[in-house]
Amino acid sequence: MKWGWWRGKNIGPAVPNAVLISASERRIGQARFAMYVAEGRRLLGVTGAGEARSGFTGEPGAAGTLFCPLDHGNAKRLREVFPFTAPAPLAVQAVTFGVGDRLGIAGPGHLRALRRYQAAPVLAQQSVRELELMGRDYEQVLDAATWAVFQEGYERPWGADGDHLKTEEWVRTALRAGFTMITADVSEHIHQQFLAIPLAELRGAYQALDPAYRTRIERAYLSLRLALDTGEAVGFTEETLARTALVYREALEHALRLYRAALEVRPAFDFELSVDETSTPTTPAAHAFVALEAQAAGIRVSSLAPRFIGEFQKGIDYLGDPPSFERSLSTHAAVARALGHRLSVHSGSDKFSVFPAVGRQTRGRFHLKTSGTSWLEAVRVIAASEPKMYRELHARALEGFPAARRYYHVTPELSAIPEVKKLSDAELPGLLEQRDSRQLVHITYGEVLRDEAFKEQFLTALQRHLEEYWAALERHIGRHLELLAVPRVG
Ligand code: ZN
Repeated sequence: MKWGWWRGKNIGPAVPNAVLISASERRIGQARFAMYVAEGRRLLGVTGAGEARSGFTGEPGAAGTLFCPLDHGNAKRLREVFPFTAPAPLAVQAVTFGVGDRLGIAGPGHLRALRRYQAAPVLAQQSVRELELMGRDYEQVLDAATWAVFQEGYERPWGADGDHLKTEEWVRTALRAGFTMITADVSEHIHQQFLAIPLAELRGAYQALDPAYRTRIERAYLSLRLALDTGEAVGFTEETLARTALVYREALEHALRLYRAALEVRPAFDFELSVDETSTPTTPAAHAFVALEAQAAGIRVSSLAPRFIGEFQKGIDYLGDPPSFERSLSTHAAVARALGHRLSVHSGSDKFSVFPAVGRQTRGRFHLKTSGTSWLEAVRVIAASEPKMYRELHARALEGFPAARRYYHVTPELSAIPEVKKLSDAELPGLLEQRDSRQLVHITYGEVLRDEAFKEQFLTALQRHLEEYWAALERHIGRHLELLAVPRVG
């Protein structure tokens, strides 16, 4: 194993062979803090005297160093002593970049990529689905990000995103755990059937809405002409207004419930409104309606995620016609600029063919979410270094696929995946280049790691290759930022 990031220094005997991670070293008065690695396990070492030292718990080692496990109590205390290890709202940032970390150890790799670019990391980004499949909670997710930030000595602002939250209870839970961003998922309250119903039926449904509501939106939108800086304009006819209102009215009511729940817990947070989990693309008029209605209700929308044309499937490149995507993106980006929020791109990992368009059309102001791709990079490291374990993982993924399929929209051809037993060890990493096997492994993490014994083996194996894992993430996330044309630092 290559440990490029620390200076060799043995600080036993309580923790033999503990080695300092030099980027983490910090002093406050007489107290000195640093991260160490001992036999694949990371520990916080606290030395010296002073107020800052109090509140940490661990095991005394040589030279008066207290070796503290990376547990919740120590992470909480670390956030008090070093405020840069706590997340913050990022509303004013031009580019924010979400990286999910399902295993809780990807953070250092993410930071090594992101610190080279003018992009604020949103490190602790997990959906409820991801938490449940991995058996984690929001405190653990945030703590993992805190340790990564401390380890890398990353002192710029970063965020923590309670992703795709659908209930008030989850919004409160995430913010109470210390999260600073909420992605409000209101898709279950979007009624797309009104997009297609016949005119006579549409009239009936619209007339059944509260008259005061109808009067208000007719005044607000029938004469509206939202001029965009692309030379286009957004407006409504009676028909499109009726359809849009019927589709989104309840979703907006739910967004307000989620927003109020968030305000109960903390005064400042980033609020992303997500209407992307629908089967048909969001029109520019619907985008404008949703944003304007949210504003009218007093919601401060930091970013908005429309459903774009084509398909943004997990872990693979964009499916669709890139030029048509760019034309439609251009209008959505202009709507976002006109209304003062940023555009958010979900399932944004590996969309290399459209990244240049995203950078261009948003004029460098966007949020982009990635998550499972960091899990895929972990699997790639295992495929390259622990072939036996990869073979077992692959078999478990095939077995778990029908279950995983229920909660992720992907369309792999399982028959296109080569039979693993016919591949040599050296050919295994190639499976992570192939679209169908990427998707297979991408969505089955919950099924594959459901078995506690296998999960333990997998994580232990990955610990042996942490440095390779972080280097792989730095490369892979860096490639995203490069193609998105995010300016470099310095
Ligand atoms: Zn989404």
